[in-house]
Amino acid sequence: MISRRGALIAGGATVAVVGAGAGAVAVAKHDKPEPAAPPSTDNQGRLLWRNWSGIQHSYPQARLAPKSEDEVAQALKTAPGPIRAVGAGHSFTALVPTAGSLMSLDGLAGIAGWEGEDQAVVWCGTRLGQLGPALAAKGRAMANLPDINKQSLGGALSTATHGTGKTLVAIHADVTALRLATTSGEILECDADKNRDIFDAARVSLGALGVITQARLRTTANRRLHRRVFAEPFEETLAKAEERWARHRNYEFYAVPFTGLAANITHDETDAPAIPRGPDTDTDFLNMLRAMRNLLGFSTPLRKAAAKTLLSAAAQPEEAVDEGWKLLSTERPMRFNEMEFHLPVDAQLAALKEVVAAIEAKRPDVFFPIEVRRIAPDDAWLSPFNAGPRGSVAVHAYYRDDYAFLFELIEPIFRRHDGRPHWGKLHSLHGQQLQALYPRWDDFLDLRRRLDPDGRLLNPYLKGLFGLQNA
Ligand SMILES: Cc1cc2nc3c(=O)[nH]c(=O)nc-3n(C[C@H](O)[C@H](O)[C@H](O)COP(=O)(O)OP(=O)(O)OC[C@H]3O[C@@H](n4cnc5c(N)ncnc54)[C@H](O)[C@@H]3O)c2cc1C
Repeated sequence: MISRRGALIAGGATVAVVGAGAGAVAVAKHDKPEPAAPPSTDNQGRLLWRNWSGIQHSYPQARLAPKSEDEVAQALKTAPGPIRAVGAGHSFTALVPTAGSLMSLDGLAGIAGWEGEDQAVVWCGTRLGQLGPALAAKGRAMANLPDINKQSLGGALSTATHGTGKTLVAIHADVTALRLATTSGEILECDADKNRDIFDAARVSLGALGVITQARLRTTANRRLHRRVFAEPFEETLAKAEERWARHRNYEFYAVPFTGLAANITHDETDAPAIPRGPDTDTDFLNMLRAMRNLLGFSTPLRKAAAKTLLSAAAQPEEAVDEGWKLLSTERPMRFNEMEFHLPVDAQLAALKEVVAAIEAKRPDVFFPIEVRRIAPDDAWLSPFNAGPRGSVAVHAYYRDDYAFLFELIEPIFRRHDGRPHWGKLHSLHGQQLQALYPRWDDFLDLRRRLDPDGRLLNPYLKGLFGLQNA
């Protein structure tokens, strides 16, 4: 996010501050030990499954790895429930855990064919990181990508995974047709003409209607993008954000609490020759923020003053030019837990300011930057971007740290601003609260009952989410 050199300079300067005295007590207070891992088997010898961040786990009775669509359909009919599809396990919410059957789609991966020159038919176990080079080989690309490309296509669609860009839709909104295997053992073809209701519901469906085996994806020409990363005062970023969303193909920023700074990232199409991106520097930057939290977190004014001075001096702008699939996603090697809400665009920056103020007033342990993005609208029933563009704000907690503040301090702010939660990220909403946010909520639940009358796809989390039992 900010250059390695800059991070190292700032890190070094921070160490000098420690030399001046005050750190040791604060280190002990803030730096938590590695969380204990659950046992690798349960008392019946079933093997552990865990999500990426480590906060969700289960011991499935059966693990399924179908190699064909027919095997998927057959398993949905006969395997012990709850049957939960899993992609890369990168969701933070308990969508995947099951004591029944865990179904990996990894065996159904790659491009199955093309419709015309611009629509790729893709198996849903394909990881986004595999899809980039496969599309590029045909001169095509996904129009947009999330922060990372480790997700499966099926997992990304199912939770409305998105990138950033005022005119760019979330991934599911580029799906023009899909094939859905259901618990009756059927495979339904769905698009704008055939099974239209199922198509509109299934594009964002949390693995609750069936398993999406294939999706037909609209692609764009594989253009080179010019990436710029630069830091500036947070207030300046707030003042310029709308204009930047209007001007740049992709624009996002990270507000860095306790520093008064924001890191900005833009991407724009270019014909300039490639300048590959340098090595990942996010980890250095995050480690430096963590060091400052540990050393100076006991005094917010001191931490703010030190961070402002050190970071302003150290942050070096970064530039790269390359094909979009090589630039839009990055590595996120430092694990975290996350809450992201999608807000009406007029409320986005006001909500962000409240979030930053609340963290700086009450949570000196937080050091992760807060991510701010813009997403164009679509019409999938459970898409958070349904019926209007949304501005997202995402708050992260280092994986060793307490994340209860996301629910206690941050979520009420997002809810006051009519935010809709990211389906794959932490939130506490369920039943009537979601019904109030989604005009087609009841239609989705009716369709769900029709396609899965015995509830074979429902794990305890989904039952709570859908208001079918107490959460
Ligand atoms: C480091 C990190 C960065 C992230 N960055 C972003 C980001 O930039 N933007 C964003 O929007 N989100 C982001 N996310 C969230 C992530 O994109 C979503 O949680 C996504 O669903 C994860 O994909 P997955 O393949 O791991 O799916 P999983 O977590 O394995 O599954 C998610 C859901 O999809 C269902 N599912 C999986 N495959 C299928 C299928 N074939 N058919 C039907 N249902 C299926 C599962 O049952 C489950 O309900 C990030 C997460 C992490 C950990």
